[in-house]
Amino acid sequence: MAHHWSNWSGGVVAQPAQILDVADEAALAAAIRSAAVPVRPVGSGHSFSPVAAVPGGTLLRLAGFDHVEPLADGDDGARHVRVGAGITLGALTERLHAMGHALANMGDIDDQTVGGALGTATHGTGAAFGCYPSMLEALTLIDGMGNRRMISRAEEPELFKAMAVGIGTGGVVTEAVIRTVAPYRLERSRYALPIGDMLADFEARMAAARNVEFYYITGSGQALVMESRETEGDLVARPPDRDQEGLRQLRLAAKLTRAAPRLRRFALGLALKGHVKEHFVEDWHKAFPTDRDGIRFNESEYHLPAEAAPEALKRVIERVERNFRDVYFPMEVRTVAPDDLWLSPFFERPTVSIAVHHEAGRPFGALLAEIETIFADYEGRPHWGKMHGLKAGQLRKLYPKWDEAIAARRELDPKGLFLTPYMRELLGQ
Ligand SMILES: Cc1cc2nc3c(=O)[nH]c(=O)nc-3n(C[C@H](O)[C@H](O)[C@H](O)COP(=O)(O)OP(=O)(O)OC[C@H]3O[C@@H](n4cnc5c(N)ncnc54)[C@H](O)[C@@H]3O)c2cc1C
Repeated sequence: MAHHWSNWSGGVVAQPAQILDVADEAALAAAIRSAAVPVRPVGSGHSFSPVAAVPGGTLLRLAGFDHVEPLADGDDGARHVRVGAGITLGALTERLHAMGHALANMGDIDDQTVGGALGTATHGTGAAFGCYPSMLEALTLIDGMGNRRMISRAEEPELFKAMAVGIGTGGVVTEAVIRTVAPYRLERSRYALPIGDMLADFEARMAAARNVEFYYITGSGQALVMESRETEGDLVARPPDRDQEGLRQLRLAAKLTRAAPRLRRFALGLALKGHVKEHFVEDWHKAFPTDRDGIRFNESEYHLPAEAAPEALKRVIERVERNFRDVYFPMEVRTVAPDDLWLSPFFERPTVSIAVHHEAGRPFGALLAEIETIFADYEGRPHWGKMHGLKAGQLRKLYPKWDEAIAARRELDPKGLFLTPYMRELLGQ
């Protein structure tokens, strides 16, 4: 009997022949050896692209795999923890904080699993901070032959770099050793700025604090800038989240002013008042995540060379505001540090990421095609877990170590057990 599976936004659906919950590595290895193919590990299903979907075949869920064990500090004072790949980031960060550990950075939400966040190179913002896989020292996986492999940066640097960003291929990750830091507290503030001013002084503004990101409120001409700085000050309660109320106002404004962009700009200016100012001080694990569970959306995000971002963003804004007036979700702009992981979109490139969101259920194809022509001009690399239309032929040109990364997967999974039709096209297998 086929099962029904869908991702968070409802934009990706699939009918796996079976869904298996595996509780330990032995059960996982047995499942990999005998389950109906193709086999896909799934985390929380928060990817917008079909990277976790499996039509027919077997959807594997890690039941358990939620251990968190601090390891002895290294000689250089480096701190590490061993974590199960099935734990959600929210559960992980609560436990890390209680143990006196912290992650150096986080993204917007903490609902993803460790396996999923590593699998797509999930990231936050901050020019000095890399994506989640850049925090890795080692990972353990069960490969396509059912063998357990512990792959560490120290002992097998090439294989490690090939597999640290896995996209669910080559093997199912069961646990990871990640670098941590001491817990810290963040003071966050938010202000509005005309987008022209933001773009004119882009580099300096994005470097003005530990973590800086901004939302461009589509149709408004305004950026909402968020800055976080480390502080030893007292906690200041986070104000109640009014983002969903703000989104509903943006939707209404877009609907009422479809034919009148200047009126929309004016109306949004009014609507933004009262949503702009925000200031709080929270411990790290409570400061980063936000609540996105109101109006659901689909999203595309491209990672661009940092210096190209202001021009690219200006073009994206112009194009979306001219041709897609029903788009009211803000665009999100973040910085990410370079790394040396072969399938990381941040490979050897200081990056600015530009994300375009659109309400779930509304057509995304034409919007995506149009913004992708702009991102292509700057050698943009798509987020693996978000919507994009690139295939192996195009991706290979964007990733200098593509061939080596694909060859490493073939060795770990010679029968192509983890390859769905989507993944075959993506990786050219
Ligand atoms: C509301 C929302 C907010 C988001 N915010 C951000 C953000 O701030 N920054 C950002 O970069 N992204 C963000 N994303 C995207 C999201 O972080 C990624 O798509 C992430 O991969 C989802 O994790 P998941 O656990 O749901 O994994 P899934 O979507 O279920 O799977 C993702 C990939 O990982 C693979 N995988 C899962 N578990 C394993 C495992 N154990 N071993 C091997 N492979 C595995 C899957 O096969 C798949 O290829 C957001 C998504 C949503 C819906």
